[in-house]
Order: sequence, then C-alpha cells, then structure tokens
Amino acid sequence: MVAAKSTTTERPALAILGGKPAFAEPLHVGRPNVGNYGAFQERVADMWDRRWLTNAGRYVEEFEQRVAALIGVKHCVATCNATAAIEIVVHALGLKGEVILPSFTFVAAANALQWQGVTPTFCDIEADNFNLDPERVASMITPRTTAIFPAHIFGRPADIEALTRLAADRGLTVFFDAAHALGCSYQGEMIGRFGRAEILSFHATKFINSMEGGAVVTNDDDLAHRLRLMKNFGFTSYDRTDEIGINGKMTEVCAAMGLTSFEAMPEIVEINRRNWGAYRDGLKKLPGISLIEYSTAEQHNYHYVIVEVDSQQAPLNRDELLLTLHRENVLARRYFWPGCHRMAPYASLYPNAGSCLPQTERVAGRVLALPTGQTITLEIIETICEIISAAFSYAGRIRSLSLTQAQS
Ligand SMILES: *Cc1c(COP(=O)(O)O)cnc(C)c1O
Repeated sequence: MVAAKSTTTERPALAILGGKPAFAEPLHVGRPNVGNYGAFQERVADMWDRRWLTNAGRYVEEFEQRVAALIGVKHCVATCNATAAIEIVVHALGLKGEVILPSFTFVAAANALQWQGVTPTFCDIEADNFNLDPERVASMITPRTTAIFPAHIFGRPADIEALTRLAADRGLTVFFDAAHALGCSYQGEMIGRFGRAEILSFHATKFINSMEGGAVVTNDDDLAHRLRLMKNFGFTSYDRTDEIGINGKMTEVCAAMGLTSFEAMPEIVEINRRNWGAYRDGLKKLPGISLIEYSTAEQHNYHYVIVEVDSQQAPLNRDELLLTLHRENVLARRYFWPGCHRMAPYASLYPNAGSCLPQTERVAGRVLALPTGQTITLEIIETICEIISAAFSYAGRIRSLSLTQAQS
C-alpha cells in the first residue's frame, strides 16, 4: 500500500502531497514491446552483408506477406509510417471535397486529409465504444462528401456493417484507420479486410512495431498496384513515372524490427491481457473508475488499458488523477483529449465544432491510458492501483491542491 509506506498515519506517501514518487524512473504509456534481439540482429547482419537497405527488400516483402496472411487479405503495402499511408491512399483514390472521420482519434488522421487538400469533417462517436456513430455520419453527408474514414479506436471495431452499408447507399468510399487494431477481429473476421482499404501503424508505441512504419491492407488489386507505384515516386520502370508519387517506403531495418516484433505477438498479447486483467481487478472496488472492456467473442490485442473516470461518482476528476499519477512518475496519457477539433488548425477553422460533438467532448474528458506492455509487471500494476486508491482516499487534499496547479 502506498499510503501504508508512510511512517506516520497523518502524512500520506503520495508524491503530490509531499511524499517520494513511487517510481524512480518514469513509466511511459506505449513503451515499445520488442521481440527476440538475436533474431533482429541476424536480420540486420544479413541485410548488412547483402547491402540491401531499402527498396523492395527481402524483409519488407516478408513482413508484408506475414501481415497479409495474418489478416487474410490479398495485399499489404508497407510504408514508412501510417500517416504517409493515409495520404497515399487518399491520393490514389483521388478523394476530394470532404471526408468524414472521428475527432476522437490521433490528430495524424485529420492532418493527412488536410495535407492532401481534403476537408476533414469531424463526426461524433458512440458513447459505448468511442467509434463513429453511423446515424450521425449519415446526417453529416453533404454533396461535397466523398468518403467515410472511421477508426477502430483502441482496437475496438467501428460499426463496420452500418458504415459500409451507409457508404454503399450514398455512393461513398469507406476506408478505415486500423492503426490500433492489428490482431483484432470483427464478427470473427480479422480487421484489415474491410472497406476499400485499411491502414495499419507499426510505430514504436503500437501493438506490433517496426520502429516507424505503416501499411495499407486491401483486396483491391488495382489500388494495391497504384499504392506500390506511388510510395516509390511513381516509378513504373527505371526512368519513367506515369503519375506523381512520393517517397513512402519502409526500410529493411524497420521491416527486420517489424518481423521480430510480429514473431513476439502471442507473448505480447498474453502480457497485455494479463496486465489488463490485473488493472481491472485492482481498480474494481473503486467508485467511478472503470476499464474499457474488450469483447471476449472477438480476438483482441489488449494493447490499451483505458480507464474512464466518472467525476460524478469518483472523488477526483480525470485531470486531478492524471496529475497525481504524474507526480508518482506514472505518465498516464489523456488519449484522445481534447479531440482533433480542439487542435490547430481545426480549432480555428471550426470554432463551434464542439457543440456538434457532445460524446467526443464527454469521452475526451474522462479517459486515461495507463502504462502496459512487456515492461509493466504485476507488481507495478499493484502499486499503480494503490496510488489510485490512495488518491481517492486523500481526494479532499488533492482537490484543494490541484486546483491551483498548472496542468502538465
Ligand atoms: C498512431 C496513429 C496514426 C499514425 O501512425 P504513424 O505510423 O505514427 O504515422 C494514425 N491513426 C491513429 C489512430 C493512430 O493511433
């Protein structure tokens, strides 16, 4: 017990109240999960000997094949990151006008659209799964709308069925941001198989990582072909381009990392699931705090431990708890506060967007991502849960302090 570590009962050990931080080193959300270092080294040595570092190398091809096989999709086109992958898809599909997406997502999704000259139109989410609300999407379609771009936030699938039907009925393209959802299923089918294409991220903080990396997965042969050209400057042969491309290639060293991480997937899922369960058990008696759940009927990567803090029930609100955790060196994150619509440039482009996004604002104000993954032990989780419990016990004192403290 954190509070019990204190020598006197009057003075709680919480760092925010003057105690020593529970952890000497910061605990980050999204600290990379890694695979077998020896396997990575072997690949790097081989790549080194062959002097093949990028451009359709052996490891990129193998990584693409393994990802495509896992998902059960015809094509996986690896890229340097997911943001570039989104841009290349938008460009390849020739999307113009407005594209509807959630505001409750990572800002890269909106930025990739905006950077391609497409207007990101932020739509509200459903209260229970934090993903696009199909009815609200329908009400936001205008004559300028060309596509719907839902995300599977925290790996929980969007309402793929309703959104796909809506897109078909209204003659729109639908493609998904699956950056969180590798290894997750929807109605028994792996995410990555839906819509015109789905985009994966292999950034260091993601479930499976290639340091930096992304991919587009699709069953569309023509689209896959064009994505391959476009990520390599548009070259169709040595000295010829048929259209404008960009450099969006994944390097061999990144693919070597991606393969090594991919091989560790069962172990990573196991640890994530264990950690998720430990947090859930450790927090279940506390009022107004709950973990988001993952359907046991589906496959899931359990990569995100997200708590919701209901300030009506809990003695502290989310930001007070955040500050308390940060003082203990538990660097919990408010994903995805404040919502894209409250970040530049969108905040000034759409100053009133918040009034159309009530669930986004509500959810963004109560979520907190906690550290998990390979480096987080059950002992660490026990301590974090004790910190939260102690924070609730000393809520009155924390409240009076934190009102006067600047938010980090
Ligand atoms: C991480 C992330 C991205 C961007 O991925 P990068 O590979 O870092 O470019 C896009 N969308 C969502 C939802 C993400 O979490």
